[in-house]
Amino acid sequence: MSLALIAGSHADDEKSLTVRDAAQLLYRHGIGGVFVTALASTAVIVILGPTGKPGLIAWLSLMLLTAAARAFDLVAGRKRREVGDWDGRAEMRRFSIPVLAAAAMWATLPLAFFHESNQVERTAMAMIISAVAAGGATVFASAQRLCIAYCSILLLPLAVMFLTAPGRENTILGSLCIVFLLIMLGVSKMTNSAVMSAIRLYRTNQTLMLETECQRQRGEEVNSELTMAQAELSETLATLEERIKTRTADLQREIGERERVGRELARLASRDALTGLYNRGALTERLDSELLRAEDANESLAVLFLDLDKFKDVNDVKGHDWGDHVLREVTRRLTELLPPGSISSRWGGDEFVIVLTGEAATCAADAIGEQLRRGVCDPISRRGETVCVDATIGIAVFPDHGRAADELIGAADMAMYAGKEDGRGRVRTFTRVLANAVRTRHLLGQALHEAISRNELRLEFQPVVSAGSGRCESLEALLRWNHPTRGPISPVEFIPLAERSGDIIPIGRWVLAQACAAAAGWPGDPAPAVAVNASVAQIEAGGLLDDVHTALAASGLDPHRLHVEVTESLFARDHEHIIPTLVALRAMGVRISLDDFGTGFSSLGSLQSLPIDTLKIDKSFVDHVEGKSAPIVTAIRSLAYALGMEIVAEGVENAQQAGVLHSMGVHYFQGYFFARPLRSEAVRAWLLERAADERQYAAPGQRNATASQI
Ligand code: C2E
Ligand code: MG
Ligand code: MG
Repeated sequence: MSLALIAGSHADDEKSLTVRDAAQLLYRHGIGGVFVTALASTAVIVILGPTGKPGLIAWLSLMLLTAAARAFDLVAGRKRREVGDWDGRAEMRRFSIPVLAAAAMWATLPLAFFHESNQVERTAMAMIISAVAAGGATVFASAQRLCIAYCSILLLPLAVMFLTAPGRENTILGSLCIVFLLIMLGVSKMTNSAVMSAIRLYRTNQTLMLETECQRQRGEEVNSELTMAQAELSETLATLEERIKTRTADLQREIGERERVGRELARLASRDALTGLYNRGALTERLDSELLRAEDANESLAVLFLDLDKFKDVNDVKGHDWGDHVLREVTRRLTELLPPGSISSRWGGDEFVIVLTGEAATCAADAIGEQLRRGVCDPISRRGETVCVDATIGIAVFPDHGRAADELIGAADMAMYAGKEDGRGRVRTFTRVLANAVRTRHLLGQALHEAISRNELRLEFQPVVSAGSGRCESLEALLRWNHPTRGPISPVEFIPLAERSGDIIPIGRWVLAQACAAAAGWPGDPAPAVAVNASVAQIEAGGLLDDVHTALAASGLDPHRLHVEVTESLFARDHEHIIPTLVALRAMGVRISLDDFGTGFSSLGSLQSLPIDTLKIDKSFVDHVEGKSAPIVTAIRSLAYALGMEIVAEGVENAQQAGVLHSMGVHYFQGYFFARPLRSEAVRAWLLERAADERQYAAPGQRNATASQI
């Protein structure tokens, strides 16, 4: 009997027998699939559960119920086969129903929980579903349509969710899902055809063996053709099995590679490209889970907010390459100095957020903060050049200063901010008092932003009188802010806020315009000048010269009648930016005064190189001019004389002070003893009255140091 004959004799039955065997294969390997499903769905709960997603437990219950239904059907299927009640097609259908139900449950996972999951959870979800799909493609290899439906139901909704979510990483993951689905479909087609060929060959082999055995029993000579065919078949069968094994190994490799890509993507999505530290999102997630752990273990935890001081200068002066180098070097030092178990991140720009875990590290947070600060302070070198930066660090501790990640980071940020206000380069721990002060200042800063447009700002003018002639030489413009609910607020409080927020630029421009306009209308021959305070921030921003031009042009004020007062903080800055502005102002005829002299960081060398016309002796020296400050005032006077500068004594409150200062050779006085700051509308009358007094007491030798007579 030939092979063709044998095949022909079984032609009718063959198809149904193949389906029957395929169904048997499904039932034989099905239990593995059930276990994987139960395991994978439990893994989902472990990964997504901690961030509290309502409905997840219901999802797990339904999933386990479906797995139980599948397990029950597998046991029942085995019994049906034993008793011979086995119709291949019906079994296939019966097997498919709970499997497709399980697939539908997997599909609901991304549909229901994708949006409320973070990137790490989404990536984990994608990896689990892909692994389940790959497992299905292997277990259901003998039922190709089931395989196609299973993989598509699992992977398509996941792909759609990724592709419709914003962000490059989501698009990449969505596209990977589609590619993976196509690979799965291709692999399942190949595996299915290999399995079906194997089943058919197995069937033929069985028939041939049966035929040979029958011939042997009948004492007939065994058909050599049959024996050869049988050997050929056995060989083909072995080859097929080998091919199936190879395909399964390929599939596993494919899954492994996909998981690796997924892990790499998750890693990239959580890192800062420049420093390799965690980025903002990843730090918040890590802090969230550390907080849960600390809460369970009843432990504390510290958050450090580190901001580099003077980093902007490095970037501006040396360029961005240098800036990047500094950030990388600071990262290296932080990583080296941090205790094990710490989590560090680049929060943005020149800010770093660090989490210290464990009781010991938390208790020593202050000391660790100080150590980190000192580490950052060490000079940083590059290609023979060196720069120095410092850091200000704020610390907040769980649970004392907050329980949630954003609360703690906010508290550490506030402490850092307070440290900056205290003069930078410090480590400050959060306190409630500090928080209230920072919050109040923040609100005040916001209100100040609107103050010009709401007409809440105005100027007052305080006279500066000549010690010799008693004439009012100039008036200093002093800014006043009448807050809608808090009432008048001192410039000592709000000017630093405006300097920090940058609002000092429009505010300073407004002051210049108002002061010049007011001075243009003052009486006198010559009419007094107006002195306007300018913050260093205004000069550094580069617009002061233009603002002065505009204010003078709009008011028609003679530039010689404008004085600009700057403070000693100039000395702490890079002179290259400052000196050209001051020189240009002077070239226009504007006079420059150095305000609050003696309180700041004046370096005598710099004083000589700065284009200054007048030194204003600070009120703190005037207060004690009859006692301990006398030598200082004398020294300032000598210095001013030597450098050809004039001197104004600020805050003169009584006749004794005026008398002593006069005898020391001070040229001008400003203080309540002569006049308090005047409202703009009162200046004209005051000046006229003053001019009349002056005429009355103009006779030489009649002056003594009293307010009305000077
Ligand atoms: P400053 O420029 O040194 O102004 C002198 C301050 O001393 C003024 O305080 C003035 O009212 C006060 N003063 C004058 N004589 C006496 C006195 O006899 N006794 C006492 N106790 N105080 C006296 P004010 O107006 O509160 O201004 C404080 C500071 O705010 C100013 O110090 C200046 O640094 C800043 N400032 C005021 N207006 C402006 C402005 O328009 N722009 C900028 N950048 N800063 C301003
Ligand atoms: Mg001043
Ligand atoms: Mg002053």
